[in-house]
Amino acid sequence: MKPTAEQQCAAIRQQLADYNYQYYVLDAPTVPDAEYDRLYRELQKLEQQFPEFITQDSPTQRVGGAPLAKFAQVQHRLPMLSLDNAFAAEDLSAFSKRMRDRLDLSGEFSFCCEPKLDGLAVSIRYENGQLVQAATRGDGYTGEDITSNIRTIRAIPLQLKGESIPAVLEVRGEVFMPLAGFARLNEQARQRGDKLFANPRNAAAGSLRQLDPAITATRPLMFYAYAVGQVEDPTQLLDSACHYQRLQQLKQWGLPVCPEIQLVTGESAVLDYYQQILTRRAELAYEIDGVVIKVSNLAQQQALGFVARAPRWAIAFKFPAQEMLTTLLDVDFQV
Ligand code: NAD
Repeated sequence: MKPTAEQQCAAIRQQLADYNYQYYVLDAPTVPDAEYDRLYRELQKLEQQFPEFITQDSPTQRVGGAPLAKFAQVQHRLPMLSLDNAFAAEDLSAFSKRMRDRLDLSGEFSFCCEPKLDGLAVSIRYENGQLVQAATRGDGYTGEDITSNIRTIRAIPLQLKGESIPAVLEVRGEVFMPLAGFARLNEQARQRGDKLFANPRNAAAGSLRQLDPAITATRPLMFYAYAVGQVEDPTQLLDSACHYQRLQQLKQWGLPVCPEIQLVTGESAVLDYYQQILTRRAELAYEIDGVVIKVSNLAQQQALGFVARAPRWAIAFKFPAQEMLTTLLDVDFQV
């Protein structure tokens, strides 16, 4: 007998929950991202058709995976959410139209266009310019305390420099493993006869989520800041900036920001950016799986707000799938 829509939803939810556990908790995925995304979209479609079958624990309503118990936990003051996905130019137009309708706006948006770095999201807290805490995204509300591990990444300043540094500044960004370092690490593992890492994302996640920071210190990790979380700033310097300007300010305080980021106006400029980065993808020193498009104006961001697991003002415009199932299944994983 054909399963009912309710049974189908439940079966896909269970399958995605298993994939999530393997990916987020074990850092050892068993299927390529494209397969995960395909199944996720199938669930989204079913849930759109039959909203009565949406459950609170559906992967469409939640972010990431639960933090590992071996780490101390950190409560995020502002949730660390995920991103909705676009796979084609039509999805991008639909995204702009939804926002225009919601804001009752006729003009073009200023978009901050950024490579979608394939690593893991972290939050780094500075108090009076000093790094005091760092955490993984976890389930978006509770992350893992990885302060000692983050402190071993040389690109991340322990002390910010420059003028008008806020009393509290939470910086969000991606920890990732550049391709050269990844190749070196796997070559060393091969020579020792150890298991190889499946891809740079898993290598980065496995390296950062180590109980012993001395191991993290030996791994070639890099960081780019891409957002600001909680801020306590009497000078209100960051309040008056747009998202793009905020990133430039972070750079001035000594935080690495991806040099490929561009501020553009309107959808067709976004498509140009997408194409340009896609063409240059193989030249980049790190792996990316798309571009992230963000409305840069903070008042507009605030007015648009959030849905369950993602902001309404940003979208991940993913590149066509590159990885093959066999590349994942052929490799033994190391965490
Ligand atoms: P996501 O990776 O699609 O998008 C959100 C994340 O993008 C952020 O948390 C951040 O880490 C990252 N990011 C990179 N550059 C960014 C930038 N410039 N600005 C903002 N964020 C940036 O969402 P997700 O919830 O982390 O993961 C879902 C995706 O992970 C799926 O679409 C799938 O591709 C993959 N996944 C795969 C499996 C699997 O088994 N293969 C399982 C779960 C998830």
